[in-house]
Amino acid sequence: MPWINKKECVSCKKCVKKCPVDAIDMVKSKASIAEDKCINCGKCIKICPVKAIFRDNDLVEINVRSNLKRVKGSLSLYNGKKAKKRMIKSQLRQIKRQQKVLRKTKKELKDIKI
Ligand code: SF4
Ligand code: SF4
Repeated sequence: MPWINKKECVSCKKCVKKCPVDAIDMVKSKASIAEDKCINCGKCIKICPVKAIFRDNDLVEINVRSNLKRVKGSLSLYNGKKAKKRMIKSQLRQIKRQQKVLRKTKKELKDIKI
């Protein structure tokens, strides 16, 4: 499903008019997509004049870039190569922990009996 960067949205409503299933509303003057209605056609992405709407895959790349920028910014707070390497190792440990949490959550979500 597409994702809207609300900071970039200029409230032109072009996406609202273009959406074939009325999945986009204006919420506090910013476009907002209803997940349960969206059929993932991508028309809103093409029509947005300021490129405020992204695909999920674009979001992955944006988040990766943002994480790297944050870590690189923090590195300048550490003196010496050893301290910087320790900081990166600590980040990698955190990622491993998050991966474990996500894997277990995914497994347990699949096992939920409804
Ligand atoms: S992808 Fe298509 S269905 Fe989904 S919000 Fe955009 S225009 Fe509407
Ligand atoms: S087309 Fe883009 S700028 Fe216009 S309302 Fe939709 S998201 Fe906002």
